[in-house]
Amino acid sequence: MPAIGIDLGTTNSLIAVYRDNKAELIPNVHGDYLTPSVVSVDKEGQLLTGRPARERLISHPGETAHAFKRLIGTNKTWKLGKPRLRSEELSSLILKSLKQDAENFLGETVTDVVISVPAYFNDIQRRATRSAAQLAGLNVIQLVNEPTAGAMVYGLNDTEDDKKYMILDLGGGTFDITLLEYFNEIFEVHASAGDNFLGGEDFTHLIAEWINNETKTRFNIKLTAEYIYQLAEQAKKSLSDNNSHSIEIEKDKSLTITNELMDEICQPLLEKLRFPITTTLQDADLIPDDLDDIVLIGGSTRMPVFREFITRMFKRFPRQSENPDHVVAKGAAIIAGLLTQNESLREVVMTDVMPYSMGVGVYNESNSERDIFDPIIERNQTIPISRENRYYPISDKQSAINLNIYQGESRYVENNLKLGTLRLNIPKKGDDRFVDVRFTYDASGILEVIAITGTGTEKRLVIEQTPGEMSKEEIEAALEKLNNIKIHPRNMDKYRAISSRAERLYEQSTGENRQALANFIQEFEILLQTQDIKKIEKHFEDFKQALDDYEHQEWF
Ligand code: ADP
Ligand code: MG
Repeated sequence: MPAIGIDLGTTNSLIAVYRDNKAELIPNVHGDYLTPSVVSVDKEGQLLTGRPARERLISHPGETAHAFKRLIGTNKTWKLGKPRLRSEELSSLILKSLKQDAENFLGETVTDVVISVPAYFNDIQRRATRSAAQLAGLNVIQLVNEPTAGAMVYGLNDTEDDKKYMILDLGGGTFDITLLEYFNEIFEVHASAGDNFLGGEDFTHLIAEWINNETKTRFNIKLTAEYIYQLAEQAKKSLSDNNSHSIEIEKDKSLTITNELMDEICQPLLEKLRFPITTTLQDADLIPDDLDDIVLIGGSTRMPVFREFITRMFKRFPRQSENPDHVVAKGAAIIAGLLTQNESLREVVMTDVMPYSMGVGVYNESNSERDIFDPIIERNQTIPISRENRYYPISDKQSAINLNIYQGESRYVENNLKLGTLRLNIPKKGDDRFVDVRFTYDASGILEVIAITGTGTEKRLVIEQTPGEMSKEEIEAALEKLNNIKIHPRNMDKYRAISSRAERLYEQSTGENRQALANFIQEFEILLQTQDIKKIEKHFEDFKQALDDYEHQEWF
C-alpha cells in the first residue's frame, strides 16, 4: 500500500508518495506537479478539471468554479451546465483526478491517503473534506494541518536538533500559523492559529479594486471584472520578481504599480496578519526571540510586501529553503509514511494541536437571553484528547437537558460556531438529574461527543447534522449524480487545455494577432477530430511554442 499525501489547496492541489526514504511529488497528465483546483464545463456538457478548466476562468467565468475550498461545508452551489455542485463535489473531482494521476504513476490502486487541511479549518470544514474524499473513492487515514505537514519537511532536512520553528503558511485563501518544536525525532506542535478568510486572493482583489478605480477615473474605461482580476493577479506576481510593473490597459494607456504602492493598497490585509501571529506566541508562552527559525510556506509568501512585513515584525529574515508550493504535499506524504509504519520513519513521532476551543452553552444568570460558552476542551491542547464535564438542569420542572455545542473563543455563544444540539431526557426526581458530556478530538481534529445521563444509561450520541454538512443520504445521492456526469476523457486533456488557452488569448488580442490565433485554433480543432494522436502530438508542440512566444510578446 503506497503512502500517499494530498495537499487539496484553494488554488492548486498536489499529490505525493513516500517511498525509498523520501517524499516524491507525482506529476499529473500534463507533466505538472500543480493541478489547479478549478472545475469547468464545456459546450458538450462535459466536465474539465485542473489546467484546461483554469484556462476557461477568464473566457467562461460563468461555467467555471474556482476557490471553492473557501466555501467547503456550506450550502453554496456552482451551476456547471446542468448539475449544481457543492464545494465537496467539486473538490471530489479534483481528488479523483489526483488519484488517477497517482495510480498511473505508481501502477497500483490508491485508496488510503493523508489529506492536509488549513490548521484553522473548523469541525464542519474538516468533516466536509472527509466527505469530498469519500465522494472520490478515497479513504482518509488522517487529516493533517497544512503547516504541520510543511514543517515535517524542514524538520527532517535539518541536521541540528532541538529547534523551535514558527511556520507561516499564506496560500490562496487561508493564513495559518503553527509553532512547532523539533527535538530528538519528535515533532511537537505547541500552538496554532490563523484566519480562514485571508489569503493571496484577497491581495489580488485589493489590487483589482485599485486598477478598476484608476482605469475609470483616469481613462474612463470600464473593463470586465474577470479581466481586471487577471491583470491584478499578473501584477501581483510580477512584483514578486520586479520592483515595478506596468499594467497595459489599452494602447498608450497604462498604469504603474510598485511594491511600495502595493504595500499601501494592501495595508488592511497586512495588519490582519498580526493578530493570529501574536496569539500563537502567547498560547505557546514564547517570545519572538525564542524562535530559531521563521519558515514561510504557501505561494503568497513570495510577495515582497509579506516578507517585509514579517521581517519588520520579527526583526529578522524568514527562511524559505524549500519550494513553498511543494512542502505541504511532501509533508502529508511523510505523515502517511509515518502512519503506515514506513521503515525509515519508525522513530519519528509527531503531535499536533487544535486551534479552537470546544464546549457547550450554559444559562447566563445575569442575562437569560445570552447563553455563556463553557469550554470543555481549550484550544491548543495536544490531540487526540478527551475531556468530560457534568451539567445539571436549571429548573426543577425540566425533564430534559438541551446541549448546544459550540466551537470558538468568545464568552458568548452567539459569537461562536454552533456545531449542533443534543437533547437528553432526565428523570423527574432524584440525584440522577445530570448529564456527563465527554468531548473527544481525534487525531484529524474532528470532534465526537458522548453524553451519559445520571441514570447510568450510557448513550452514545453523534452530533446532529449541521446546516452546511452533507448527510449520509446526500452523499449517496451525490455519488449517483457524479457517476452520471460526463468527465472529459483525460488523455485528451492537454489538447483541450491548449485550445482553451488559445481561446483566452484570442479574446484578449485584436487585429492580426487575433486572426493568426483563430487560424491556429481552427487547424488544431480539425486535427483533433481526426483523432490521429501522432499528428496531434506533433502539432501540439508547435502550437504550444507559438502560444508561449505570443505570451512573451515575441510573436509577429
Ligand atoms: P493554496 O494552498 O491555497 O492552494 P498556494 O500556496 O498554492 O495556495 O498559493 C496560491 C496563492 O499564491 C495564490 O493567491 C497566488 O496568487 C499566489 N502566488 C503564487 N505565485 C506567486 C508569486 N510569484 N507572487 C505572489 N503571489 C503568488
Ligand atoms: Mg496550501
